[in-house]
Amino acid sequence: MKKTVAAVVTVIVVALVTFVFYDGVLNKTSEADFFSMKTYVTAKVTGYESDLCTDEIQKIVDNLDVNVLSRTAEDSLVSSVNKSGGGQLDIQTAAYVSLLLDVCEKSGGAFDFTLGAVSDLWKFGSTPEIPDPNALADALSHSGYKKISLEGGNLVMQDKSAVLDFGASGKGIALDSVKAYLETRDIKNAVVSVGGSTLLYGDKDFTVGIRNPEGNAGSYIAKLHMNEGCVSSSGSYEQFFEENGKRYHHILNPETGYPVDNGLVGVTIVSDSGLLSDALSTACFVLGIEKGSSLAAEYGCTAIFVTSDKKIYIEGDADIVEITDASYTYGN
Ligand code: ADP
Ligand code: MG
Repeated sequence: MKKTVAAVVTVIVVALVTFVFYDGVLNKTSEADFFSMKTYVTAKVTGYESDLCTDEIQKIVDNLDVNVLSRTAEDSLVSSVNKSGGGQLDIQTAAYVSLLLDVCEKSGGAFDFTLGAVSDLWKFGSTPEIPDPNALADALSHSGYKKISLEGGNLVMQDKSAVLDFGASGKGIALDSVKAYLETRDIKNAVVSVGGSTLLYGDKDFTVGIRNPEGNAGSYIAKLHMNEGCVSSSGSYEQFFEENGKRYHHILNPETGYPVDNGLVGVTIVSDSGLLSDALSTACFVLGIEKGSSLAAEYGCTAIFVTSDKKIYIEGDADIVEITDASYTYGN
């Protein structure tokens, strides 16, 4: 009798230990943070292959930056296209450029990824200043998405002085690359942020904060309750300087070359596509609430607009938004 009890107890203990062990293996979480694409990247992956994934995510983002999208890395594809005034793109990059041209077109030019020379004059990455008006006019005259076209993967620049800039879309493109990789791995869920763009991956209820435009990076005004998808925010609080009491920030009106000044302080976009969430957050910031809402609707995305007088306007799925800072109220 004693032997039987001992055997049963042993079986139960072994089963419990095995269960706890396998549960730990299947649900283990791995985290990484690093600097890439001139911003902070964080990755948190849960599942059997989580360690492998966090290592690989860093390689994917770094590779995309240094070898493809960066216009400061000497040997990247974009640097080479900018230097040569065009060139052959790989299939994946051509697909991204094609979608970006669509956003340029549908936004009526509010989004324009050929503004590199104009952006450079503002020197936001180093010592920001108001550009010389003649230099600005000259840089603007060489910009404009209508000056570039894709012909069977070959990017043709009619004006060889146009400068491609993926500053408003590269972080979202990185999320799309990471997502495509994660789909091939054995994991349960992941949250990957590249600057102001975040991928929420897997079967889980996620909560994402919308940053307080007046506060520091850890302070939020609203929460988004959502499932899988990509979320990007663009704001006048990201990169800016002040002169004579006026704020100059890094989101530019492609018509004037000056920072957009339309009462918005931030726009957040929710989309299945990282590229669209990132590009549309910039496009909708430039367009303002009314036209921005129409553009977001055209792409089937949810857009959240935050104004300087603390109103929040929503286009799309309003149910996902919860205001958490009582000084902000719904505008619509
Ligand atoms: P962040 O880089 O802070 O995430 P955005 O996604 O809004 O913010 O991208 C802003 C960057 O995009 C600028 O630093 C500049 O390189 C580029 N940019 C500025 N204005 C435009 C515009 N109207 N269309 C496309 N790109 C832009
Ligand atoms: Mg953007």
